[in-house]
Amino acid sequence: MTTEKRVCVSCNDDITSSTKSVEFKCPNCGEVIRRCGRCRKTMVKWVCKCGFEGP
Ligand SMILES: [Zn+2]
Ligand SMILES: [Zn+2]
Repeated sequence: MTTEKRVCVSCNDDITSSTKSVEFKCPNCGEVIRRCGRCRKTMVKWVCKCGFEGP
């Protein structure tokens, strides 16, 4: 059972029910990165917990 909360990595918004959110893996460590549609659209940069920053 997965009750993991899905939040945007940039703004910390809950994106569990968002349809515009995206999910991809950090190119550096493979950690799953989630972003809401808004941050994606405005190209807010994200920082993985491994320290990797991405556009
Ligand atoms: Zn966001
Ligand atoms: Zn990473």
